[in-house]
Amino acid sequence: MIIAKLDNVTHVVASDGSLNRSSPMYCPSCGQRVYLKKGKLKIAHFAHFSKQECESFSEGETAEHLKGKWKLFHSLKKQGYEVALEAYLPELKQRPDILLKTDTESIAIEYQCSMLPIDKMVERTENYLRNGYYPYWILGEKFVMNQNITTLKKTFIQHTTRLGFYFVHFNSGTNELKIFYDFYKVSDSKWRYTNCRIPLEALDLMLNKNFKELISKKTIKKPKESLYRSYLELQNKIRASNNRLRPFIFTLYRHSETIVTMPIELFLSLKNEWLIEQPPYEWKYHFLRWIESQNKRKIITKRNIISYIKNAINSQELQIARLPLVKDEVIVSLFVDYLSLLINTGIVIKISDEKWLFQSKAARYSNESDKVKRLKNLFF
Ligand SMILES: [Zn+2]
Repeated sequence: MIIAKLDNVTHVVASDGSLNRSSPMYCPSCGQRVYLKKGKLKIAHFAHFSKQECESFSEGETAEHLKGKWKLFHSLKKQGYEVALEAYLPELKQRPDILLKTDTESIAIEYQCSMLPIDKMVERTENYLRNGYYPYWILGEKFVMNQNITTLKKTFIQHTTRLGFYFVHFNSGTNELKIFYDFYKVSDSKWRYTNCRIPLEALDLMLNKNFKELISKKTIKKPKESLYRSYLELQNKIRASNNRLRPFIFTLYRHSETIVTMPIELFLSLKNEWLIEQPPYEWKYHFLRWIESQNKRKIITKRNIISYIKNAINSQELQIARLPLVKDEVIVSLFVDYLSLLINTGIVIKISDEKWLFQSKAARYSNESDKVKRLKNLFF
Protein backbone atom coordinates (compact mmCIF):
# COMPACT_ATOMS: atom_id res chain seq x y z
CA MET A 1 0.00 0.00 0.00
CA ILE A 2 1.20 3.45 -0.87
CA ILE A 3 -1.32 5.48 1.08
CA ALA A 4 -1.90 5.12 4.82
CA LYS A 5 -3.96 7.18 7.23
CA LEU A 6 -2.86 9.04 10.33
CA ASP A 7 -6.38 9.57 11.60
CA ASN A 8 -9.84 9.69 10.06
CA VAL A 9 -9.12 12.71 7.91
CA THR A 10 -5.41 12.77 7.18
CA HIS A 11 -3.82 10.45 4.65
CA VAL A 12 -0.11 10.17 3.94
CA VAL A 13 1.86 9.01 0.93
CA ALA A 14 4.77 6.64 1.55
CA SER A 15 7.18 8.62 -0.63
CA ASP A 16 6.61 11.82 1.35
CA GLY A 17 10.08 12.70 2.68
CA SER A 18 8.76 14.72 5.62
CA LEU A 19 6.84 11.77 7.00
CA ASN A 20 7.49 11.05 10.67
CA ARG A 21 8.12 7.34 10.92
CA SER A 22 7.31 7.18 14.60
CA SER A 23 3.78 8.57 14.45
CA PRO A 24 1.14 5.84 14.34
CA MET A 25 -0.21 5.05 10.87
CA TYR A 26 -3.09 2.80 9.90
CA CYS A 27 -4.27 0.74 6.96
CA PRO A 28 -7.18 2.58 5.29
CA SER A 29 -8.82 -0.75 4.63
CA CYS A 30 -8.69 -2.83 7.80
CA GLY A 31 -7.60 -0.13 10.27
CA GLN A 32 -4.65 -2.13 11.59
CA ARG A 33 -1.34 -0.45 12.40
CA VAL A 34 1.08 -0.18 9.52
CA TYR A 35 4.67 1.02 9.25
CA LEU A 36 6.75 2.68 6.57
CA LYS A 37 9.09 0.45 4.64
CA LYS A 38 11.86 1.64 2.37
CA GLY A 39 14.06 -0.96 0.81
CA LYS A 40 16.36 -1.50 -2.09
CA LEU A 41 13.86 -3.54 -4.09
CA LYS A 42 10.58 -1.93 -3.34
CA ILE A 43 9.58 1.70 -3.50
CA ALA A 44 8.49 3.28 -0.21
CA HIS A 45 5.29 1.67 0.97
CA PHE A 46 3.36 0.71 4.05
CA ALA A 47 3.16 -2.77 5.50
CA HIS A 48 0.99 -4.30 8.20
CA PHE A 49 2.61 -5.08 11.55
CA SER A 50 0.54 -8.18 11.98
CA LYS A 51 0.07 -10.70 9.22
CA GLN A 52 -3.64 -10.89 9.95
CA GLU A 53 -5.99 -11.01 6.99
CA CYS A 54 -6.50 -7.70 5.26
CA GLU A 55 -9.02 -7.85 2.42
CA SER A 56 -7.62 -5.06 0.27
CA PHE A 57 -3.91 -5.53 0.67
CA SER A 58 -3.44 -9.22 1.14
CA GLU A 59 -2.32 -10.02 -2.37
CA GLY A 60 0.13 -8.79 -4.91
CA GLU A 61 2.05 -6.12 -3.02
CA THR A 62 5.19 -7.06 -4.85
CA ALA A 63 7.88 -4.58 -5.87
CA GLU A 64 6.53 -4.68 -9.40
CA HIS A 65 2.98 -3.97 -8.29
CA LEU A 66 3.89 -1.09 -5.96
CA LYS A 67 6.14 0.59 -8.49
CA GLY A 68 3.73 0.05 -11.36
CA LYS A 69 0.63 1.49 -9.78
CA TRP A 70 2.64 4.48 -8.58
CA LYS A 71 3.98 5.15 -12.07
CA LEU A 72 0.64 4.69 -13.80
CA PHE A 73 -1.00 6.96 -11.25
CA HIS A 74 1.62 9.67 -11.70
CA SER A 75 1.52 9.59 -15.43
CA LEU A 76 -2.22 10.23 -15.40
CA LYS A 77 -1.99 12.82 -12.67
CA LYS A 78 0.70 14.73 -14.55
CA GLN A 79 -1.65 15.01 -17.49
CA GLY A 80 -4.23 16.67 -15.28
CA TYR A 81 -6.64 13.79 -14.86
CA GLU A 82 -8.79 13.30 -11.79
CA VAL A 83 -7.16 10.20 -10.33
CA ALA A 84 -7.11 8.56 -6.93
CA LEU A 85 -4.69 5.95 -5.68
CA GLU A 86 -6.02 2.97 -3.71
CA ALA A 87 -9.40 4.65 -3.31
CA TYR A 88 -12.03 2.59 -1.56
CA LEU A 89 -15.41 2.17 -3.24
CA PRO A 90 -17.76 1.37 -0.35
CA GLU A 91 -20.74 0.38 -2.51
CA LEU A 92 -18.59 -2.29 -4.19
CA LYS A 93 -16.37 -3.10 -1.23
CA GLN A 94 -13.48 -2.93 -3.69
CA ARG A 95 -10.30 -0.91 -3.82
CA PRO A 96 -8.96 -0.47 -7.34
CA ASP A 97 -5.27 0.43 -7.64
CA ILE A 98 -6.19 3.61 -9.47
CA LEU A 99 -9.52 5.29 -9.98
CA LEU A 100 -9.77 7.59 -12.99
CA LYS A 101 -12.71 9.88 -13.58
CA THR A 102 -13.25 11.32 -17.03
CA ASP A 103 -16.20 13.41 -18.22
CA THR A 104 -18.03 10.31 -19.32
CA GLU A 105 -16.61 7.38 -17.41
CA SER A 106 -15.25 6.10 -14.13
CA ILE A 107 -12.41 3.72 -14.84
CA ALA A 108 -11.07 1.36 -12.21
CA ILE A 109 -7.52 0.47 -13.15
CA GLU A 110 -6.15 -2.75 -11.75
CA TYR A 111 -2.47 -3.46 -12.26
CA GLN A 112 -2.52 -7.23 -11.95
CA CYS A 113 0.87 -8.73 -11.27
CA SER A 114 -0.05 -11.94 -9.50
CA MET A 115 -2.15 -14.89 -10.51
CA LEU A 116 -5.62 -14.98 -9.04
CA PRO A 117 -8.50 -17.47 -9.24
CA ILE A 118 -10.59 -17.01 -12.39
CA ASP A 119 -13.78 -16.78 -10.35
CA LYS A 120 -12.33 -13.89 -8.39
CA MET A 121 -11.33 -12.01 -11.55
CA VAL A 122 -14.77 -12.50 -13.10
CA GLU A 123 -16.56 -11.57 -9.89
CA ARG A 124 -14.54 -8.35 -9.49
CA THR A 125 -15.02 -7.37 -13.11
CA GLU A 126 -18.77 -7.96 -13.00
CA ASN A 127 -19.03 -6.08 -9.74
CA TYR A 128 -17.36 -3.04 -11.33
CA LEU A 129 -19.52 -3.19 -14.45
CA ARG A 130 -22.75 -3.57 -12.45
CA ASN A 131 -21.90 -0.44 -10.50
CA GLY A 132 -21.03 1.72 -13.47
CA TYR A 133 -17.24 1.45 -13.37
CA TYR A 134 -15.22 0.24 -16.31
CA PRO A 135 -12.55 -2.14 -15.04
CA TYR A 136 -9.31 -1.74 -16.92
CA TRP A 137 -6.91 -4.54 -16.16
CA ILE A 138 -3.27 -3.96 -16.98
CA LEU A 139 -1.19 -7.09 -16.72
CA GLY A 140 2.24 -7.47 -15.18
CA GLU A 141 5.27 -9.47 -16.18
CA LYS A 142 4.00 -12.88 -15.09
CA PHE A 143 1.27 -12.78 -17.69
CA VAL A 144 3.42 -12.18 -20.73
CA MET A 145 6.26 -14.57 -20.04
CA ASN A 146 5.11 -16.96 -22.71
CA GLN A 147 3.07 -17.02 -25.89
CA ASN A 148 0.37 -19.24 -24.52
CA ILE A 149 -2.92 -17.64 -23.56
CA THR A 150 -4.22 -19.54 -20.58
CA THR A 151 -7.84 -19.59 -19.47
CA LEU A 152 -6.95 -17.00 -16.84
CA LYS A 153 -5.10 -14.73 -19.27
CA LYS A 154 -8.08 -14.96 -21.62
CA THR A 155 -10.41 -13.41 -19.03
CA PHE A 156 -8.48 -10.12 -19.28
CA ILE A 157 -9.10 -9.80 -23.00
CA GLN A 158 -11.11 -6.78 -24.12
CA HIS A 159 -12.66 -6.03 -27.48
CA THR A 160 -13.27 -2.97 -29.61
CA THR A 161 -14.52 -2.87 -33.16
CA ARG A 162 -11.50 -0.89 -34.28
CA LEU A 163 -8.79 -3.16 -32.89
CA GLY A 164 -10.55 -6.43 -32.19
CA PHE A 165 -9.39 -8.43 -29.19
CA TYR A 166 -6.54 -7.21 -27.03
CA PHE A 167 -5.01 -7.03 -23.59
CA VAL A 168 -2.66 -4.51 -22.08
CA HIS A 169 0.67 -5.05 -20.37
CA PHE A 170 2.86 -2.72 -18.35
CA ASN A 171 6.47 -3.30 -17.39
CA SER A 172 7.03 -1.16 -14.30
CA GLY A 173 10.80 -1.46 -14.64
CA THR A 174 11.16 -0.15 -18.17
CA ASN A 175 7.95 1.93 -18.26
CA GLU A 176 6.97 -0.01 -21.32
CA LEU A 177 3.27 -0.11 -22.00
CA LYS A 178 2.18 -2.60 -24.63
CA ILE A 179 -0.97 -3.70 -26.35
CA PHE A 180 -1.16 -7.36 -27.36
CA TYR A 181 -3.71 -7.98 -30.08
CA ASP A 182 -4.55 -9.88 -33.22
CA PHE A 183 -4.71 -13.26 -31.52
CA TYR A 184 -4.67 -16.44 -33.48
CA LYS A 185 -4.68 -19.83 -31.84
CA VAL A 186 -2.31 -22.17 -33.64
CA SER A 187 -2.72 -25.19 -31.39
CA ASP A 188 -3.92 -26.03 -27.90
CA SER A 189 -1.00 -24.28 -26.23
CA LYS A 190 0.39 -22.13 -29.01
CA TRP A 191 -0.85 -18.72 -30.00
CA ARG A 192 0.28 -16.08 -32.37
CA TYR A 193 -0.26 -12.39 -31.71
CA THR A 194 1.09 -8.97 -32.41
CA ASN A 195 2.17 -6.39 -29.89
CA CYS A 196 2.65 -2.70 -30.11
CA ARG A 197 4.54 -0.42 -27.76
CA ILE A 198 2.77 2.63 -26.44
CA PRO A 199 4.41 5.56 -24.67
CA LEU A 200 3.34 5.87 -21.05
CA GLU A 201 2.11 9.38 -21.85
CA ALA A 202 -0.46 7.86 -24.16
CA LEU A 203 -2.01 5.79 -21.39
CA ASP A 204 -5.08 8.01 -21.42
CA LEU A 205 -5.63 7.48 -25.14
CA MET A 206 -5.48 3.76 -24.56
CA LEU A 207 -7.92 3.91 -21.67
CA ASN A 208 -10.29 5.88 -23.89
CA LYS A 209 -9.85 3.22 -26.55
CA ASN A 210 -8.51 5.83 -28.91
CA PHE A 211 -6.55 3.29 -30.89
CA LYS A 212 -6.55 5.25 -34.10
CA GLU A 213 -3.71 7.39 -32.84
CA LEU A 214 -1.83 4.54 -31.22
CA ILE A 215 -1.77 1.80 -33.77
CA SER A 216 -1.19 2.57 -37.40
CA LYS A 217 -0.53 -1.02 -38.37
CA LYS A 218 -3.38 -2.88 -39.93
CA THR A 219 -4.22 -6.13 -38.23
CA ILE A 220 -2.99 -9.28 -39.85
CA LYS A 221 -5.58 -11.41 -41.59
CA LYS A 222 -5.81 -15.07 -40.72
CA PRO A 223 -3.59 -16.93 -43.17
CA LYS A 224 -5.43 -18.75 -45.90
CA GLU A 225 -5.67 -22.36 -44.98
CA SER A 226 -6.49 -25.37 -46.97
CA LEU A 227 -9.33 -27.46 -45.66
CA TYR A 228 -7.26 -30.45 -46.58
CA ARG A 229 -4.59 -29.43 -44.08
CA SER A 230 -7.19 -29.08 -41.31
CA TYR A 231 -8.45 -32.49 -42.28
CA LEU A 232 -4.97 -34.01 -41.97
CA GLU A 233 -4.54 -32.34 -38.60
CA LEU A 234 -7.72 -33.91 -37.35
CA GLN A 235 -6.67 -37.29 -38.63
CA ASN A 236 -3.39 -36.93 -36.74
CA LYS A 237 -5.18 -35.99 -33.56
CA ILE A 238 -7.39 -39.03 -33.85
CA ARG A 239 -4.41 -41.25 -34.44
CA ALA A 240 -2.73 -39.77 -31.38
CA SER A 241 -5.98 -40.60 -29.54
CA ASN A 242 -6.33 -37.01 -28.39
CA ASN A 243 -8.61 -37.05 -25.35
CA ARG A 244 -10.05 -33.68 -26.15
CA LEU A 245 -11.65 -35.15 -29.25
CA ARG A 246 -13.42 -37.97 -27.48
CA PRO A 247 -16.65 -36.05 -26.75
CA PHE A 248 -16.80 -34.98 -30.39
CA ILE A 249 -16.36 -38.50 -31.73
CA PHE A 250 -19.01 -39.66 -29.29
CA THR A 251 -21.36 -36.93 -30.55
CA LEU A 252 -20.86 -38.19 -34.11
CA TYR A 253 -21.66 -41.76 -33.09
CA ARG A 254 -24.78 -40.61 -31.31
CA HIS A 255 -26.06 -39.24 -34.60
CA SER A 256 -24.98 -42.34 -36.51
CA GLU A 257 -22.07 -40.54 -38.08
CA THR A 258 -18.35 -41.13 -38.12
CA ILE A 259 -15.18 -39.20 -38.88
CA VAL A 260 -15.58 -40.45 -42.46
CA THR A 261 -19.15 -39.24 -42.97
CA MET A 262 -18.66 -35.90 -41.23
CA PRO A 263 -19.17 -32.88 -43.48
CA ILE A 264 -16.15 -30.95 -44.73
CA GLU A 265 -17.83 -27.73 -43.57
CA LEU A 266 -16.50 -28.55 -40.11
CA PHE A 267 -13.01 -27.74 -41.39
CA LEU A 268 -13.92 -24.20 -42.32
CA SER A 269 -11.98 -22.16 -39.81
CA LEU A 270 -12.40 -18.74 -38.32
CA LYS A 271 -9.82 -16.46 -36.78
CA ASN A 272 -11.52 -16.13 -33.41
CA GLU A 273 -12.48 -19.72 -32.75
CA TRP A 274 -10.69 -19.51 -29.43
CA LEU A 275 -13.78 -17.74 -28.10
CA ILE A 276 -15.21 -21.20 -27.75
CA GLU A 277 -13.58 -23.66 -25.39
CA GLN A 278 -14.48 -26.84 -27.26
CA PRO A 279 -12.58 -28.26 -30.22
CA PRO A 280 -13.84 -26.32 -33.26
CA TYR A 281 -15.32 -29.37 -35.01
CA GLU A 282 -17.61 -29.98 -32.08
CA TRP A 283 -19.44 -26.66 -31.85
CA LYS A 284 -19.57 -26.37 -35.63
CA TYR A 285 -21.15 -29.80 -35.87
CA HIS A 286 -23.88 -28.88 -33.38
CA PHE A 287 -24.51 -25.57 -35.09
CA LEU A 288 -24.59 -27.16 -38.53
CA ARG A 289 -27.07 -29.78 -37.34
CA TRP A 290 -29.26 -27.03 -35.97
CA ILE A 291 -29.22 -25.29 -39.35
CA GLU A 292 -30.01 -28.59 -41.06
CA SER A 293 -32.94 -29.18 -38.71
CA GLN A 294 -34.70 -26.11 -40.18
CA ASN A 295 -37.34 -26.54 -42.82
CA LYS A 296 -35.99 -26.21 -46.35
CA ARG A 297 -36.12 -22.63 -47.63
CA LYS A 298 -36.55 -21.36 -44.10
CA ILE A 299 -35.14 -17.95 -43.30
CA ILE A 300 -32.65 -17.98 -40.45
CA THR A 301 -32.39 -14.64 -38.69
CA LYS A 302 -29.77 -13.27 -36.36
CA ARG A 303 -32.39 -13.48 -33.62
CA ASN A 304 -32.73 -17.22 -34.31
CA ILE A 305 -28.97 -17.58 -33.95
CA ILE A 306 -28.98 -15.74 -30.62
CA SER A 307 -31.64 -18.05 -29.22
CA TYR A 308 -29.75 -21.07 -30.60
CA ILE A 309 -26.63 -19.93 -28.73
CA LYS A 310 -28.58 -19.43 -25.49
CA ASN A 311 -30.11 -22.89 -25.70
CA ALA A 312 -26.85 -24.53 -26.63
CA ILE A 313 -25.11 -22.94 -23.64
CA ASN A 314 -27.91 -24.07 -21.33
CA SER A 315 -27.76 -27.63 -22.58
CA GLN A 316 -23.94 -27.54 -22.34
CA GLU A 317 -23.60 -28.29 -26.01
CA LEU A 318 -21.64 -25.07 -26.26
CA GLN A 319 -18.90 -23.85 -23.92
CA ILE A 320 -17.97 -20.24 -24.39
CA ALA A 321 -14.71 -18.97 -22.89
CA ARG A 322 -15.08 -16.82 -19.82
CA LEU A 323 -14.62 -13.32 -21.12
CA PRO A 324 -16.22 -10.91 -18.66
CA LEU A 325 -15.06 -7.85 -20.63
CA VAL A 326 -16.38 -9.00 -23.99
CA LYS A 327 -19.97 -8.26 -25.00
CA ASP A 328 -22.32 -11.07 -26.03
CA GLU A 329 -22.77 -9.62 -29.51
CA VAL A 330 -19.12 -10.33 -30.23
CA ILE A 331 -19.75 -14.04 -29.61
CA VAL A 332 -22.83 -13.90 -31.83
CA SER A 333 -20.74 -12.47 -34.65
CA LEU A 334 -18.53 -15.57 -34.60
CA PHE A 335 -21.57 -17.69 -35.47
CA VAL A 336 -22.64 -15.18 -38.10
CA ASP A 337 -19.14 -15.39 -39.61
CA TYR A 338 -19.34 -19.16 -39.70
CA LEU A 339 -22.75 -19.02 -41.33
CA SER A 340 -21.29 -16.69 -43.95
CA LEU A 341 -18.66 -19.32 -44.76
CA LEU A 342 -21.44 -21.84 -45.36
CA ILE A 343 -22.56 -19.75 -48.31
CA ASN A 344 -19.49 -21.04 -50.15
CA THR A 345 -20.62 -24.64 -50.05
CA GLY A 346 -24.25 -23.88 -50.79
CA ILE A 347 -25.72 -24.61 -47.35
CA VAL A 348 -27.23 -21.15 -47.01
CA ILE A 349 -27.83 -18.11 -49.17
CA LYS A 350 -27.36 -14.63 -47.79
CA ILE A 351 -30.42 -12.41 -47.94
CA SER A 352 -29.23 -9.51 -45.80
CA ASP A 353 -26.71 -8.87 -43.01
CA GLU A 354 -29.08 -10.49 -40.55
CA LYS A 355 -30.96 -12.99 -42.71
CA TRP A 356 -29.97 -16.21 -44.45
CA LEU A 357 -31.95 -18.78 -46.36
CA PHE A 358 -31.39 -22.43 -45.58
CA GLN A 359 -30.73 -24.12 -48.91
CA SER A 360 -29.50 -27.67 -48.49
CA LYS A 361 -27.87 -30.03 -46.03
CA ALA A 362 -24.12 -30.48 -46.03
CA ALA A 363 -22.86 -33.49 -47.98
CA ARG A 364 -21.96 -36.62 -46.01
CA TYR A 365 -19.31 -39.00 -47.29
CA SER A 366 -19.22 -42.74 -47.61
CA ASN A 367 -15.47 -43.03 -48.09
CA GLU A 368 -12.29 -41.11 -47.38
CA SER A 369 -11.10 -40.72 -50.95
CA ASP A 370 -14.25 -38.88 -52.11
CA LYS A 371 -13.89 -36.55 -49.23
CA VAL A 372 -10.19 -35.94 -49.76
CA LYS A 373 -10.85 -35.21 -53.45
CA ARG A 374 -13.31 -32.47 -52.56
CA LEU A 375 -11.15 -31.09 -49.75
CA LYS A 376 -8.09 -30.73 -51.94
CA ASN A 377 -9.97 -28.42 -54.25
CA LEU A 378 -11.28 -26.06 -51.63
CA PHE A 379 -9.45 -23.06 -50.20
CA PHE A 380 -10.82 -20.34 -48.00
ZN1 LIG B 1 -5.16 -3.66 6.04
